[in-house]
Amino acid sequence: MPSFIITEKCDGCKALDRTACQYICPNDLLVLDKVKNKAYNRSPEMCWECYNCVKICPTQAIEIRGYADFMPLGGVVQPMKSSDSILWSVKFRNGQIKRFKFPIRTIPEGSAEPDAGWSTGTEDLKSPVLRTEPGSTGLSELPKL
Ligand code: SF4
Ligand code: SF4
Repeated sequence: MPSFIITEKCDGCKALDRTACQYICPNDLLVLDKVKNKAYNRSPEMCWECYNCVKICPTQAIEIRGYADFMPLGGVVQPMKSSDSILWSVKFRNGQIKRFKFPIRTIPEGSAEPDAGWSTGTEDLKSPVLRTEPGSTGLSELPKL
């Protein structure tokens, strides 16, 4: 089910060199038509439906749409992200709308520590255990076979 850009809502990220959807797509599928100032998915069959572009688009211009041969047309799922939660609006093709809100953070935005407090060093690259082991397991050393 590929991403679909609603051209009426897309503002081309106000003509930035690289749009939000281009920046976030792990498959590099989204491109900006600089003449029309609208983004589009250049290879929908390669989209793995990760929803990254849908969530980051500042104008809610991107939807994931099912293929007509196995999914009824007319249904829409649209997320709206805030700094601490995400609200999913699900619109069924009979017009019924359901909304689900979920928290997405346990700490304030911008306060996450990249190493989560675990020290690291170049010796970790030579070690067969995970970077945080054995400390994160609660053991002083890992069991030996
Ligand atoms: Fe358009 Fe949204 Fe992509 Fe920006 S992120 S270019 S508004 S589809
Ligand atoms: Fe790329 Fe994911 Fe959006 Fe598909 S859903 S276009 S893979 S960011």
